[in-house]
Amino acid sequence: MNLSAKETTQRPNDRYDRHRLIEGFDQERLALVDAIVIGAGAVGNEVIKNLALLGIGRIDIHDFDLIEIHNLTRSVLFHEGLVGRSKAEAAADACRNIDPNVTAQGFMGDFRDRLSVERVRAADAVICCVDNHEARIALNRLCLLAGTPLLNAAIDAWEVSAEIYPHTPTDAAACYECWIPSAIYESISARYSCGGLRKASIEQRRIPTTTLTSSIAGAALVSLLLQHVCDLPTRRKFSVQSRSRLLSLTAEERMISRNPVCPACGIYGKLPVIIPCRAESSPVGIYPTAQDEESELIFSEPIITGWHCSGCHQSHALLARARDYDTSLTWCPECQAASRSVSIMDSATPSSLRALSAGRKLPLQFLYSPDSRPPFLLSLSNRLNDDS
Ligand SMILES: [Zn+2]
Ligand SMILES: [Zn+2]
Repeated sequence: MNLSAKETTQRPNDRYDRHRLIEGFDQERLALVDAIVIGAGAVGNEVIKNLALLGIGRIDIHDFDLIEIHNLTRSVLFHEGLVGRSKAEAAADACRNIDPNVTAQGFMGDFRDRLSVERVRAADAVICCVDNHEARIALNRLCLLAGTPLLNAAIDAWEVSAEIYPHTPTDAAACYECWIPSAIYESISARYSCGGLRKASIEQRRIPTTTLTSSIAGAALVSLLLQHVCDLPTRRKFSVQSRSRLLSLTAEERMISRNPVCPACGIYGKLPVIIPCRAESSPVGIYPTAQDEESELIFSEPIITGWHCSGCHQSHALLARARDYDTSLTWCPECQAASRSVSIMDSATPSSLRALSAGRKLPLQFLYSPDSRPPFLLSLSNRLNDDS
C-alpha cells in the first residue's frame, strides 16, 4: 500500500486529512490546479466527481448536451429531477455541492466556440471525455498549440483506454494523432461531402457502456493528472496509454513514441507566440514582419465563403462556419436541384484573407501561421465572443 510513513499531525476539522497521509500528495498544489473537462457524459461525470472530491481548485466543464433519462445509469452527478438541464451546468453545480472550495463553471455549447488557445495555455490540463474522434482531434490540436497536457479516455462495455499526452515542447512525446489509424480520418470524412459540407442526417454511433468502465476511466485519468501536477516520481514524462480489461481484471501500459510523419505534431506542435486581437482591431492588419505576408494562415476551422449555382448562375457571398451548415446548402430552390457549389476554405494568405473579410468579423477562434519565424497565432476569441 502507498499509505505512508509520512509524518502528519492531524488537523481538527481538516476535510483533506486522509489525503495528507499519502506520500507526495500535495493538497495545496491541488487547490491551485486548473483543469478543463470536455464532455460531462459517463466518463466526464466520473472525472468531475473525482476532481471535486480531491479538492481541485478550478474545474471548467464544456458540454453541449442536455441530460436525458438514459444518461442516469452512468452519471453519478445527475438525477431524474435534472433531466432536460444542461449537463455542463448541472455537473458544475454538483461540484460546488461536493466541495464548496472548488471553483466550477459549466459552459453549455460546443467547446470550439468558447475555448481559446490562451485559455487552454493557462490550464494545467485538458481532460477529454467525449466519445468521438472529431472532437478529440480538435482538442489535440488546441492542446498542441497551447503546449498543455491532454488526457483522453475511450470506453466500451468491458474495456478502457486512458492516455496522457504531456505536450511539453522539449519532449519527444507523441500526440493523440501520432498513430491513429487512417480509417478514423476516413470515417470522419465519410460524414462530409466532397465539398467539405456535413452530410445531412447522419446519426452518431451509440456506444454500449456501463458505469463500470466509465468509473475506471475516470480514476485512471485523474490518477495520471494527479501524478503529473504533484510531480510524483511516477509522473509520465512521455505519452502513455493504459488499457484495462474488466472481464479479466487485467491492465497494461505502453509508451507511445512520436510519429515523425504525424499530420498534427509537425504543424501544430510549434508552440506559437499568441497575439490577442482586440475587438476594435482588424485581425488581418497585424503582422509581426513583412515576410509573414507570404505565409499561409491556417484557420481554427473551415469556413464557407459563398456558393454559386450552375443552373441559374446566381452567386451569394457568405462568411460562416462550415459546421453550422450541411449539404442542404447545395440545394437551389429556383432550379429544384442540388446545383449549388459551395466554397469552403481552411487557410489563406493574409492578402486573400483581407479581401475575403473586407472588414467583417471572421467566425474563427484563431489564425495560425506555422511557417513564420517565430510561429504566431492571432487569437480572435475576443472578437468571436463579443456578440454572444
Ligand atoms: Zn503527433
Ligand atoms: Zn439555381
